[in-house]
Amino acid sequence: MENIKENNNNNKSEVLIATLYDDSFRIYIANTTNLVLKATKIHKTIKTSSAALGRLLTVTGLMGLMLKQDEIINCKINGDGEIKYILGVADANGNVKGEISNPNSYIVCKDKLNKLNVSEAIGNGTLTVIKDFHLKEPFISSIPLISGEIAEDFAEYFLTSEQVPSSVSTGVLVSKKVINAGGFIIQVLPNCDNVLIDVIENKLKSLKPFTTLLSENFSLEDIIAAISDNNYKIYEKRYLQYHCDCSKTRFKKILGRLDVNSLKELSLDEVTEINCHFCQKKYKFSRDTILKIISDKEIKK
Ligand SMILES: [Zn+2]
Repeated sequence: MENIKENNNNNKSEVLIATLYDDSFRIYIANTTNLVLKATKIHKTIKTSSAALGRLLTVTGLMGLMLKQDEIINCKINGDGEIKYILGVADANGNVKGEISNPNSYIVCKDKLNKLNVSEAIGNGTLTVIKDFHLKEPFISSIPLISGEIAEDFAEYFLTSEQVPSSVSTGVLVSKKVINAGGFIIQVLPNCDNVLIDVIENKLKSLKPFTTLLSENFSLEDIIAAISDNNYKIYEKRYLQYHCDCSKTRFKKILGRLDVNSLKELSLDEVTEINCHFCQKKYKFSRDTILKIISDKEIKK
C-alpha cells in the first residue's frame, strides 16, 4: 500500500494559485518536475526535446486549471526547426498529456554551451491554442511564434488572443534526465494600477531563472513571496499529473470511423496493433474484431 501511495505522489506536480499585491495580479505557479519526468520517459526524449516538451506541458497544464469542468485545452507548436511539432493537452482536473514529433533534438546555444537552444530547435512557426467547450464551438487561435522559447510565445498569445497582459515563465533543467521543471503564469487583473505593473516587471527582471530557484530549494511559496514582496494571498493548491485517458473501447470507436476499404486492408493482418501517441500503450485488435467492425458498418448502410 505504502508503495502505491508513494508512486501516486511521485506522479503529482504541485500548483499554487494566488493573488499578488492586493488582488492586482493572479499567479498560477507549478513545480512540474514529476510531470515532465514522466512525459520525457514515455516519449524517450533527450536534452532539447525534453526541455521543449516539458515547457509546453507546464504552460498547457497551468492553462488547463483555468478552464471550467469538462473543458479541454490543446496547445500546438508547429515550427520549421528540427523538432517540427509538439502538442500539449490538458483538462480542468490537472490531467496533462502530450506528444513530440522529434524526441532526439540536442541543440545548445552558441554562446552558452550548457544552455539548450529550444528556440532554434523549434524555429519559425505558429502556436495554436484550441479550447474545446464540448457544447459550444471550440475556441481556436493561432499566432506566429515570437521566439520559439515557448514562455514568450504564450505571453504574446495571452496578450493578443485573450487580451490579458501576462508574464509567462517556464524552464526545464536537463542533465542526463530531467532534474527539475516548472513555471508560472502571472495575469494582470482588471483593477491593477499601472505603477504596480512596473514594480512587478522589475521584480521579474531581477528574479533568477525558475529552474535555478528550484535547484536552490526555493518552494513555490518562496517564489511567490519574492515576486510580490510578501504581498500575496494563496487561495488554492492544485496538482498536475501526466495522465492519458485512452482505452481499447476508444480506439475501437476510432477504427469504426475508418472507411471499409482501409478496414479491409487491416483485416489482412492477423492482428492490428495501435499505438497511443500520448502514452505509447499498445492495443491489439484481432482479425475477427476488425471483420466484425466491417460487418457492423455494412449493416448500418
Ligand atoms: Zn494513451
